[in-house]
Amino acid sequence: MNVAVLAGGVGGARFLRALTETADPAGVTAIVNVGDDLDIAGLHVAPDLDTVLYTLAGLSDEERGWGRAGETWNALDTLRELGGDGWFALGDRDLGLHLARTQALRVGEPLSAITARLAAAAGLELSLLPATDDRLRTWLETASGAFEFQEWFVRRRHADAVGGVRFEGADQAGPAPGVLAALDEADLIAIAPSNPYVSIWPILSVAPIRAAIENRRVPCVAVSPLIGGRAVKGPAAEMLDRLAGGTTPAHVASTYAGLIDVLVVDPADDPADAPVRTVVTPTLLDEPDARRRVAAAVLDVARGPVPA
Ligand code: GDP
Ligand code: CA
Repeated sequence: MNVAVLAGGVGGARFLRALTETADPAGVTAIVNVGDDLDIAGLHVAPDLDTVLYTLAGLSDEERGWGRAGETWNALDTLRELGGDGWFALGDRDLGLHLARTQALRVGEPLSAITARLAAAAGLELSLLPATDDRLRTWLETASGAFEFQEWFVRRRHADAVGGVRFEGADQAGPAPGVLAALDEADLIAIAPSNPYVSIWPILSVAPIRAAIENRRVPCVAVSPLIGGRAVKGPAAEMLDRLAGGTTPAHVASTYAGLIDVLVVDPADDPADAPVRTVVTPTLLDEPDARRRVAAAVLDVARGPVPA
């Protein structure tokens, strides 16, 4: 079965792991957010692509929740001592990947081609694609001003309440090679339990990607990133509260209006008033059995009725 998945970082990676443990990874294409990418200390960093890469390759630090296991921080210590851009934590092992990516970008290789090489080198069997090869940057509007994603998230510790999001470069951005084909050839489109506003909307801000999903002939299923109205991690619940007016499955579904046919929600949430069909199953993806059940629930949707 071919499944095209829209994904951010941690929630995206956890869900992709669930899916590739259950279905043939060769049929899975991950279309990953690049709105959080940043240029720091001369390097191009793509946090969501790397979280997916490290998680699926078994290299991630599960306890810390980001970056690589067995990481050391010698280069960062030196950078800080020397007054460099040390606010964004880059581990030594992680840095090696950013060096390779930045070098390749500098000689003109597209991000999608570099990502494919890195994924193959890490032994990944799924297709890993950035949503776009073009420059796309998520901005958050807050009472203290507008901030680029990492500035808001890391440097200011996402303390500023978000009044709106915008995606710089979206007008000029096209889908990366392979993205539209993956959506077109999919038997099922899935949206990972990622933050709708800052992980999935940037992908959807690339107009042909949104159009392909709006015009789908196969079902699209999203997994809610909230459990009992709360995020497993990160600011998704606060953002939904502020921007959608609440944290129920109905509010989550409202962020994907016209784009999904089914929302998978945890038993801790009340699916009443959800504008789409809901499937209720425990959605915490922390162990193999739970992952298998969520993946099975999602894959089951492909066997259901095709949307009109
Ligand atoms: P980021 O780019 O690393 O911030 O990651 P994502 O946007 O992909 O994922 C963040 C979201 O994942 C948060 O809203 C979490 O609530 C959600 N999340 C993380 N782990 C799980 C999980 O096991 N189950 C569910 N349902 N959501 C999760
Ligand atoms: Ca992210």
